[in-house]
Amino acid sequence: MAEFDIKNIGLKVGLEIHQQLDTKKKLFCDCTPLEEDEFSRKFSRRLRAAKSELGKIDPAALFESTKSKTIIYYANPKSSCLVEEDEEPPHALDTDAKNLAFLISSALESKIFSEIHVMRKTVIDGSNTTGFQRTMLVAQGGHIEIDGKKVGVQSICLEEDAGKLIKDEENHRFFSLDRLGVPLVEIALDPVEGDPKFVKDIALTLGRLLRVTKKVMRGIGSIRQDVNISIEGGGIIEVKGVQQLDQLEKIIEFEAKRQHGLKLIANKINQTKFTEINKKGDIFDITEIMKECNSKIIKKSIENQDKIFGIRIKKLKGIFGFEPYSDIRLGKEIGQLVRFFGIGGVFHSDELPNYGIEEDDIKRVTKKLNIEDDDAFLIIAGEKISVSFAIDSIINRIKLAQNGPPAETRAATQNGDTIFLRPRPGASRMYPETDIPTIKVSDKELAEARSNIPKSWEKSIRELEEKYQINNQLAEQIFDSEYFEIFEQICSKKQNSPNFVVSILCSTITNLKRSGLDSSLLNDEQIMKTFELLEQKKINKESIQIIFEQIMSKKANNVIHALENASITQLTEDELDKILDNIIQNNTDKIEQEQMRALSGLMGLAMKEVRGKASGKIINQKLKEKIQGYLN
Ligand SMILES: [Zn+2]
Repeated sequence: MAEFDIKNIGLKVGLEIHQQLDTKKKLFCDCTPLEEDEFSRKFSRRLRAAKSELGKIDPAALFESTKSKTIIYYANPKSSCLVEEDEEPPHALDTDAKNLAFLISSALESKIFSEIHVMRKTVIDGSNTTGFQRTMLVAQGGHIEIDGKKVGVQSICLEEDAGKLIKDEENHRFFSLDRLGVPLVEIALDPVEGDPKFVKDIALTLGRLLRVTKKVMRGIGSIRQDVNISIEGGGIIEVKGVQQLDQLEKIIEFEAKRQHGLKLIANKINQTKFTEINKKGDIFDITEIMKECNSKIIKKSIENQDKIFGIRIKKLKGIFGFEPYSDIRLGKEIGQLVRFFGIGGVFHSDELPNYGIEEDDIKRVTKKLNIEDDDAFLIIAGEKISVSFAIDSIINRIKLAQNGPPAETRAATQNGDTIFLRPRPGASRMYPETDIPTIKVSDKELAEARSNIPKSWEKSIRELEEKYQINNQLAEQIFDSEYFEIFEQICSKKQNSPNFVVSILCSTITNLKRSGLDSSLLNDEQIMKTFELLEQKKINKESIQIIFEQIMSKKANNVIHALENASITQLTEDELDKILDNIIQNNTDKIEQEQMRALSGLMGLAMKEVRGKASGKIINQKLKEKIQGYLN
């Protein structure tokens, strides 16, 4: 395998950040931006993508246009109205969102336009009930500074968020409308020479610049990154939906390697005498000769009366399985591509015999396809129409493979890889929104935005350290977390030490999350209630984790329920004494042997029995006294 040097491949990375704004209203109606999971209304629309709005040449885009789906929308009157349902024209632009976009533009020294035109951007996946997204260019130019290096801002737009995808089935797609119309600021940055760590720092700095306004949403999903990644000589690959910063760095590294691997594969193809795949001469229906084949996929296709095709690729033997870097192969790319057409199986000659396709099958195929020594072939099975589109797409993809990585849109995966999503669409179609008049920006508004630029993140952190007497690390942790607002609320009552509150909101919740529990089940109201109970001495510090654990594991849906479940009631002093005396009596041997060192072991036993029902500090103190008492 080749040695990979990320610094020597001409890597370029452009970031595009979408940040939800924390306004009282949605962008074009009076609904409250509110995450919901209950929906009392349901309605449906037919959706058929118009061919003109997709790339015209690409088979994958053509195939997408043949799919027709019914879109089902779920709505709740608390979070959506007739505007989201496209039954009523949009209202005037929300002033708070507009001012916030001006403020963010000013903070980035971006030039705000004197007139703003609301545009419609065609959206074909059904995530907008209208078939378009409203967006407006607010400012251009400017920069952000990271460790003394300036990164240019290309544009700042204010736009509506889309509906939230709930599930996607073959003929139906489901969206909820609670998120539709929530204001978003989209900031596109100039591409930078790729150092993944630097790109991560840019995203971090930009995220912090947005958070110091204290008017943007926090937490997973409230800030999303799209990343355009390319290497020298390759197409631009757009990776959508990066939600975490650590993931961002991994994805850039993965893409750099994948793209460079594809370039090495291209070099290798160019050393062969490969010219092209002939759609007439190189495609063979091999359904008949595969009837005896033991491969599960082939068998299933025969059962479904699907078609099986062999594709002859002259001179490309060894190319599909060639692996310049671990797990980067043209064969894998083709496998992901056909999945787009709903096809589960494509086999290439470099990996055969395998998957139930045996020597005899291969002999029959090579004979039928008239395969020569240095030729390769693919076997593909599936429904006739899909297979036909898929074959066109494969022919196209192999042709493009001679030039390295082709431009396409990919999706970020949780573990930092990317997978093929669709061919990269051309520039999206935009046209004016006729329901909303042009918005004039006054000098007064500009001056106001400039005078309201918030203090820098560094300064905000220093102030936090002073105000709450917490160290730098905790200040950064809480400020960057989604619990910052609630932290300030809890601490405003001055009943709990800020140090303790941060440790609960950051460490405790993070630890529970790492153990696989779902922090989105724990809302601000429940957190507040828990701290209230603590202040009223109805629970003790140890109970907080138990309550959160109950809620985050869905065992309880509110704090009271969690308390009942975990039977967290405070023991009276007598009750506690009784339990501890019992423990002492059952462990006299241990105490005699270990003397005072027995304390930690007994403490463990005691906590097992009374965890959450008495304060750890008191238990410890009592046990110490009791052991001493016994020893005397
Ligand atoms: Zn509404």
